[in-house]
Order: sequence, then structure tokens, then C-alpha cells
Amino acid sequence: MSQYDTPNSIAELQENIEEIQQQVDVVCQRIGRNPAEVRLLPVTKTLPAERVEQAYQLGFRCFGENKVLEAKGKYEALQHLPIHWILIGHLQSNKVKYVAKFIDEFHALDSIKLAEKLDHRLAQVQRILPVFIQVNTSNEQSKFGVKPAQALALIEQCQQFPQLKIIGLMTLAIHSQDPVEVRRCFQTLRLLRDEIQKTYPDIQRLSMGMSGDFEIAIEEGATDIRVGQAIFGARDLPDNYYWSEQ
Ligand SMILES: *Cc1c(COP(=O)(O)O)cnc(C)c1O
Repeated sequence: MSQYDTPNSIAELQENIEEIQQQVDVVCQRIGRNPAEVRLLPVTKTLPAERVEQAYQLGFRCFGENKVLEAKGKYEALQHLPIHWILIGHLQSNKVKYVAKFIDEFHALDSIKLAEKLDHRLAQVQRILPVFIQVNTSNEQSKFGVKPAQALALIEQCQQFPQLKIIGLMTLAIHSQDPVEVRRCFQTLRLLRDEIQKTYPDIQRLSMGMSGDFEIAIEEGATDIRVGQAIFGARDLPDNYYWSEQ
């Protein structure tokens, strides 16, 4: 059913990683981008800590997780490794304390209320958190994120929070087989970033693109692609399961 096979050995895992990295390099070469500008972020949601450790041994230092409690279990199991844990999914404000404790980067900030709570907790532990604002570029009800027209206002309001360092924008493309519609989502995010940069030059990064659409995302300027299944194999459940509120 799925095109993504689960690697059965470290060698197969390494093959998958090299294949993806090569696809990244090819797209970059074709459009004249430096592949070093595109960070391949492995997404390890639903996978056990052992799998994360294998990927670590193959060279990755940053891992993307969708849910903070799941990430916490792996963080605790792998404390002996200098891993950067990156939360890429929606965060409920009652779980902000975990983020303050061990998350190194957050890609799904989408409300002023959440920003305020995060800032408060982070101040207590004297940490500064790099964050991306999640933007809903597809206009689908099922997706989190602010509307494109609201992003600048949220960023302005967040200037009062010294523990949050906004470094980019993040989006999930529309759930569609039509590459034109998918591309339109990534273009929306890039144009929005360009506009925001006029006021906030440090907001540069674009976290966009996953297993099925990272090549289009790179063409449209992605600096951080979040890839799970193409590296680690297909997941059993549809994405909406992981993206819904729990
Ligand atoms: C799971 C997930 C990804 C990766 O999706 P794949 O299909 O496994 O590449 C990217 N971004 C977010 C927010 C996710 O939850």
C-alpha cells in the first residue's frame, strides 16, 4: 500500500538516509541552491528510542517529534546522547513545562496565549527557545496554525517575550495529490516570510516539506524539511491521527 519500506538493518537505514540526502542534493543542484542550506530533520514519532539511537549513530543530532510526552520518554531514555529534541507538532498549554525542560526548538507556535505560557516557564529555567510560527497555508479545518494574515500580528505580540526567539515559519501543505496545490502552500509561506523579513530580518527559516513533498518544498525555499516515513518506513495510522488534539 505504501511506498515506504521499513529498514530491517542499520545498513538499510543508512541506505534510506543516503538516498534522501541525494535527492535533496539533486534538487538543490538543479535550482542552484546550496544543499548545506537545507537541514534534513528526521521525524521519529511512533518509533522507539532504539531507532533514534541508530539514526544518531549514523550522524543525526536533531530529531523531530510530534508530541511532547512521547518525546519526553525518548529524551529520558537517551540522556547519555547530546540530542537536540525538536517539537514539530501542536502543543497544549498544560504541557508547556516539558518543553521548557528539554525541547531545543519548537516549530508549531500558533497563539499568543501559548507564547506567554512558554515565555513564563522558560524564564524560570533561564532558557531561550528558538521557535517557528506555524501557519495554516491550506485553509483546512484539520490543520493547526495561524492564518497567513495573522502571522505578522502574532510575531509583533511575541516581541514582549524575551525567552522566545522567532527564527522562521512552519507549515504543513494541503492533503492533496495535486502538486500545484501543494506548491501553492509552500509559496504562500515563502512570500509571507519575505514580507515579515522587511520588519524582522532574523526571521529567515522555512520549515516545510515532508516525505511526500520535500522536493517541491526545497524548490520553494525550504530550509528545514521534516522527513519521517521516507527514512524509517511507513506508519500504520493516517496523519490526522497524529495531528489531532489529544
Ligand atoms: C509526522 C510529521 C512529519 C513527517 O511526515 P512523514 O510523512 O513521516 O515524512 C512532518 N511534520 C509533522 C508536523 C509531522 O507530524
